[in-house]
Amino acid sequence: MQLYKEHQIKLYNSLTGKKENFKPINEGYIGMYVCGPTVYSNVHLGNVRTFMSFDMVFRYLKHLGYKVRYVRNITDAGHLENDADVGEDKITKKARLEEIEPMEVVQRYTVDFHNVLNTFNFLPPSIEPTATGHIIEQIELISKIIENGFAYEVNGSVYFDVHKFDETNEYGKLSKRKLEDLIHNTRTLDGQSDKKNPQDFALWKKAEPQHIMRWPSPWSDGFPGWHLECTAMSTKYLGEQFDIHGGGMDLKFPHHECEIAQNEAAKGVSPVNYWMHANMLELNGQRMSKTTGNTVNPDELLSGNNKFFSKAYAPSVIRFFNAQSSYRSVLDLTDDGLLASEKGFYRLMDAVNLLDSLKASETSSIDIPAWKQRCYDAMNDDFNSPILVAHLFEAVKYINQVKEGSETLSIEDLNLLKETINNFVYDILGLENNAKSDSGTDKLSGAVDVLIRLRQDARANKDFAMSDKIRDELAAVGIQLKDGKDGTTFSVN
Ligand SMILES: [Zn+2]
Repeated sequence: MQLYKEHQIKLYNSLTGKKENFKPINEGYIGMYVCGPTVYSNVHLGNVRTFMSFDMVFRYLKHLGYKVRYVRNITDAGHLENDADVGEDKITKKARLEEIEPMEVVQRYTVDFHNVLNTFNFLPPSIEPTATGHIIEQIELISKIIENGFAYEVNGSVYFDVHKFDETNEYGKLSKRKLEDLIHNTRTLDGQSDKKNPQDFALWKKAEPQHIMRWPSPWSDGFPGWHLECTAMSTKYLGEQFDIHGGGMDLKFPHHECEIAQNEAAKGVSPVNYWMHANMLELNGQRMSKTTGNTVNPDELLSGNNKFFSKAYAPSVIRFFNAQSSYRSVLDLTDDGLLASEKGFYRLMDAVNLLDSLKASETSSIDIPAWKQRCYDAMNDDFNSPILVAHLFEAVKYINQVKEGSETLSIEDLNLLKETINNFVYDILGLENNAKSDSGTDKLSGAVDVLIRLRQDARANKDFAMSDKIRDELAAVGIQLKDGKDGTTFSVN
């Protein structure tokens, strides 16, 4: 039996503002779309956090036995500097500044994006489509929206008619905005714009003569609006209606709101059953921003080469830090926070490393099946990873107690404990147990093992003075040896 049959996920749906019982459209299958990066610069750490949260979601859904088609796009055209359809295309601008081809910009930063995600042990999505690879689909969508009366053409550009749409549909239902309020809060058009109303958004923009990224269309040589690509690519690969759409909180409006409007205007149906939004990452309590200098990129964080952090942090430590907070909470990146997570991470890994040395007993004094259920309950509750982490630390306590002999586990429970820890630590949280070289813990335990063996030799030779000396001098530097019936173990104070 598939695990998902025993585990009902409740997930917070941004559309309804409630935690809902998750039910996929087709049993056993899940379609999930997450808005990917605009590849005009090195990937932002805030975006890495968003993708890390959805990597965990993807991993958990797969673990439950769902067949997940996870689509995460690459925006390589159409994203203008300003959400109000003005300014230069971000990629074109970068290409102009660096005097390279726009596709060189795209290539460079797509490679960077993949490298960073690989470093953090992300699973690749099932499909990673690009906006420029789906121009024909986008043109078809625009034609359909025009045909249905929800878009208009002016001077070679095509705009979505938000006011017309709102007469029959509900514009703003995701971001909880009302069109009247939007009208009050937006400045009137300056006479330069072709739009009928400031709330309208571009589906197609006519390219200026100097604009390099351009494609022929029924309206002009131009390029698609940014919101359109996600509608085209999500529904192409996942169907007109699909299960989960994710992205950063900052994309809820206007980007995701426009995606809903486009799909309803073109196909008459709302595209997504569950909208999930990952919250923002802050640095020392402040919004990350290039302009204020309050920002750190992933490479700088991993190398320690930055002014905010006292040392380099391993990718798994950063993943662990992220897991210690709900994806829906603002996460504040601080040196103290990372140091605490690092300590916790190595404490967890030290316990995981002890698992194979634990000896089974006749009976169990700890209820492992109930503990395992608590781990699943945490993840089933809207992917509540901080609660899961608390349960993993409970297991650290169990492991140490069994090691010391104050609690016992039967062979079945010991195997269940190992299997469950491996599932949650490696497969679901995506942590890696190779981040230890930095802590020196491996080397330390190797060195103490050498001393333990020398002490055994001394005792075998009845050299008790030497044996006591080794024990006492280790104790003096904070390493306690403990003699048990299965040999000598040690702990670091
Ligand atoms: Zn998108």
